[in-house]
Amino acid sequence: MGKIKIDQFSDIKILKYHISNFDNLSNTEKKLIYCLSQAALSGRDIFWDQNFKYNLIIRKILEAIYIKNKDLDNSSDFKYFTTYLKRVWFSNGIHHHYSTEKITPLFNRAYFHKLLKTIDYKSLNSTTLSEAEFIELIEVIIFSREKYNKRISQDSSKDLISNSSNNYYQNITDKEVKKYYNVKKEDIKDRISLGLNSKLYKVNDKIIEETYKENGLYSEPIKKIIYWLSQAICYTQNNQQKEWLKTLIEYYQTGDLKTFDNYSILWLKDTESSIDTINGFIEVYGDPLGIKGSWEANVNIKNEISSKRTEILSQNAQWFEDNSPVNSEHKKSKVKGVSAKVIDVIMLGGDCYPSSPLGINLPNSEWIRETYGSKSVTIENIAKAHLTDSLESGFLEEFAYDKSEIELNKKYGFLASNLHTDLHECLGHGSGKIKEGINTDILKNYYSIIEEARADLFALYYIMDQKMIDLGLISTKNVAICEYQNYIRNGLMTQLVRIEPDKNIEQAHMRNRQLICKWCYEKGKKNNVIEKIIKENKTYFVVNDFNRLRELFGDLLNEIQRIKSEGDYNAAKKLVENYGTKVDKNIHNEILNRYKKLGIAPYTGFVNPILTPIYNNNNEWTDVKLDYCNSYEDQMLEYSEKYSFL
Ligand code: ZN
Repeated sequence: MGKIKIDQFSDIKILKYHISNFDNLSNTEKKLIYCLSQAALSGRDIFWDQNFKYNLIIRKILEAIYIKNKDLDNSSDFKYFTTYLKRVWFSNGIHHHYSTEKITPLFNRAYFHKLLKTIDYKSLNSTTLSEAEFIELIEVIIFSREKYNKRISQDSSKDLISNSSNNYYQNITDKEVKKYYNVKKEDIKDRISLGLNSKLYKVNDKIIEETYKENGLYSEPIKKIIYWLSQAICYTQNNQQKEWLKTLIEYYQTGDLKTFDNYSILWLKDTESSIDTINGFIEVYGDPLGIKGSWEANVNIKNEISSKRTEILSQNAQWFEDNSPVNSEHKKSKVKGVSAKVIDVIMLGGDCYPSSPLGINLPNSEWIRETYGSKSVTIENIAKAHLTDSLESGFLEEFAYDKSEIELNKKYGFLASNLHTDLHECLGHGSGKIKEGINTDILKNYYSIIEEARADLFALYYIMDQKMIDLGLISTKNVAICEYQNYIRNGLMTQLVRIEPDKNIEQAHMRNRQLICKWCYEKGKKNNVIEKIIKENKTYFVVNDFNRLRELFGDLLNEIQRIKSEGDYNAAKKLVENYGTKVDKNIHNEILNRYKKLGIAPYTGFVNPILTPIYNNNNEWTDVKLDYCNSYEDQMLEYSEKYSFL
């Protein structure tokens, strides 16, 4: 496969991920993967458009400029331009994928104006604006620091919707959105995730909700998705798989969320198929109100060997629930089928590309989870790529306190982080019970953080349990010690490399990690559970008492579960604002400096492999060839050429 890292620019590095057993698959399986992969790539433009209404116009202009000038312009300005384009590609739009702030170009407006004149920009003007107005708009989008400056506003003192530049809403306020869906909720007694697959906007005082579906909003890419999902049905592995694919198609045709729920139930019950896909409007992180789902896709193959691990966990799910440190009234008396497996991804799309999650637990719908359970996956080949890269970067040597921490990491780091993800996804999210009559919507913008903290704490609490050894998942508690060291080091220190100077933490996962670590640090202070040590002017956080730390994880898990179970908004707010949000400026600056010297990019993305159908002399489709991609820009340009459906 060659070198794992193929590109690095700004704060981003691009890796390849490896697929180990593709050649052992049957031709039918390969064809199924191919069709699902085409469906996974076909919705690319949807996600770009959801992120910001002018993203696609900007992408087309930037790509046209790039293609026209890349062999002609050797200036440093053009290098800055190329970096800007690569960053926009990475973020699926003009806002940073993580901070959601507008990406700052390092070239100036005059230079861009010159570049713009080298292409036929008039043909890219799909607006009703005049030529001059169009140019003004494009340049404001790229250069203005005031307009469209943030994709997701988290500042709850201001209107969250009108201060966010995403395209889930237009011309409408926070209050109006909430009122609209509250009224609807009373009308529709179904438990569907209202508003998940639609855009809400106001024209002449009239609120319009436009659904993403065939012959609705995003009809063209959705038709392509439907086409490829229908093709995939010819190669399904069993009837169950065929059924949920059919239901997914029906959902894309109708946009009916009841059908989406039916699909989700069929999909989660399918534990037989070794080839699987996620394709739809799923996660709500892109919407400050947590209503609208961003389009995402992935195609994956079960990793049979590592799946033994998660099978053991899910077979024992009830034991974990019964023995958790959570108040008994907030526990499930009967844990519903938590199915878990370890997968290798083979295609990433939409919100999963190029930046991929390490684990997935779906469906998100709370009532389905409670009634039918959920399907949980750990993505092993992505984790492996991350680890291979990090062992070569010098990162651990810089931030780990001593040699023993580094050695422990080399020995157990991969297993520890995989087990954490397994526990988080397959048991953590599925655990706990909501009190009768409580709707977790009440936690509003704190919901995601509380939910992620809950799953992380569940994992942290149990990775140190004797049960893990008894079940044969680990042979020594050193695996757990390694995980505790890594988690604390990351949550109190190294994750801050992703935050710009003088900024606070806004991303849900980062907030939950700091919340957990800071809370434990404060609560364990008098017993010196976690110690802050300065050695040769460098700060380290060292765990002195692993058992006491585990107890603290348990105490916090109990409290976080209570907050979720009872819908205690004020307690959630207090925890998140006190522990999860504010950044220690001194440590932050120090970490940024130390990190800068290492020359590592803090964010990682991936290129997909290239799948090519093979035909015989009679023009019959016989096989699928897999190649690894070695050029990030080639892949991006190819996708723009083949999958521009908006
Ligand atoms: Zn999670």
